[in-house]
Amino acid sequence: MKNLGLEQEVYKYIDDHKEKFLEASDKLWDYAELQFVEHQSAALLSGLLEEAGFQVERGLAGMETCFVGTFGQGKPVIGILGEYDALTGLSQKADVAEKCALIPGGAGHGCGHNAFGASTVFAAIAVKKFMEEKGLKGTVKYFGCPAEEVGGGKAFMVRAGLFDGVDAAMCWHPWSYNGYLRTGSLANVNITIKFHGIGAHAGATPHLGRSALDAVELTNVGVNYLREHIVPGARVHYAYLNAGGKNPNVVQPEAEASYIIRAPKMAQVEEILERVKKIAQGAALMTETTTEHKVVAMYSEYLANDTICNCFYRHLQEVIPNTTYTEEEKAYAHQFKMTVSPSQMDTFRDQLKELTAGNPNYDVDALFDDKDIMDILVPSIHMYASSDVGNVSWVVPTSHFGVVIDAVGTPAHSWQRVAQGKSSIAHKGMIHATKVLAMSCLDFFVNPTLADQAKEDWKKELAGRTYKSLLADDLKPGPQG
Ligand SMILES: [Zn+2]
Repeated sequence: MKNLGLEQEVYKYIDDHKEKFLEASDKLWDYAELQFVEHQSAALLSGLLEEAGFQVERGLAGMETCFVGTFGQGKPVIGILGEYDALTGLSQKADVAEKCALIPGGAGHGCGHNAFGASTVFAAIAVKKFMEEKGLKGTVKYFGCPAEEVGGGKAFMVRAGLFDGVDAAMCWHPWSYNGYLRTGSLANVNITIKFHGIGAHAGATPHLGRSALDAVELTNVGVNYLREHIVPGARVHYAYLNAGGKNPNVVQPEAEASYIIRAPKMAQVEEILERVKKIAQGAALMTETTTEHKVVAMYSEYLANDTICNCFYRHLQEVIPNTTYTEEEKAYAHQFKMTVSPSQMDTFRDQLKELTAGNPNYDVDALFDDKDIMDILVPSIHMYASSDVGNVSWVVPTSHFGVVIDAVGTPAHSWQRVAQGKSSIAHKGMIHATKVLAMSCLDFFVNPTLADQAKEDWKKELAGRTYKSLLADDLKPGPQG
């Protein structure tokens, strides 16, 4: 494939201009803003794009912190997806290898979306620079995607048609290994179920009351019986949003619970969802209450794209094996490796064994014993959780890859990931990701036939299925409850 010998020029440009973006990543880490209120983070990232000559539109798809930056015109149109939301309760002091909140009860970047956000913007800017320099035709679009962790912002962006006309979309994510994502993730739907009953004095007139709280409890009992009869890999989680009140001497007239139904495929989730709704109706019948429900978020399963993954893999092979870590960095990572529980470490070990099964190049036990930073490249990695990148993959050929940004065994959504988020190891990972992403995007401008190939792969992967939004047309994005 012709690539105009771009790699070395692009990598050098990224190395020479990284400081501003590493600073941006550290600032996002400081902001640690939650879903739908990532105001400073969105302003910082969209500002960087604007400063670099992108045309920026803000406040899209009903979300103040959603933005799109565009450069160029015509086909192909290549999208880069960026995330920048943090997680509740994960505030942690940087570089401290024990659990120690920076702000008690505060939020933290436990999924590394600070590095994710800043490096994707950097990649988009590098792509623009070389499109101009090499006279490459087409459009690069940066999608600032709010609320990945809770709320599924991309489902609302898909509903708003923001991805219409995009030929391919790409991103990366901090990961336990380096590699492209060929399989996963799990589909899920978040539904709230509310019951309305009749309040009464629990001692004097309980016969006049109809308890909404009882209805929620009976729904939970019903779902417990359901769990035996759903497909393997499916999970049903719940939380109380409103237990009615704090006084047991009142028959609670209102109560509400939130359910997440998760399964390998959205079609399976939909089936289970219908059964959960029936259980809620049954609970309402038993308690003489009424019930209503609302789907508030949805995450489709991810459909990988071979054409895009092949681009990622080619550039991962150029970037990852050339990484070196200093003795100081290894010692830093070692302290964090020591904080990971043996069962968590075993889980990662088993996952890597599964991913490399039959490949004699990977001695997984030795790797886990010897390494403090898992700097290896695994061809194809798997997502064990859910991501709203999945929703985009149903409407546009889409893929993402993983890059290591911290010590071996660091779990996602952990204080350890937050603590290491400003380290030189995180910065290195972020630059690796920027290089792979920028080059993969440029591949599509150098060889526009890749967009046609990606579309063919995408059609094969869809196999006649189409994306179905479960969000009501009038549902507003935002914290639910
Ligand atoms: Zn994440």
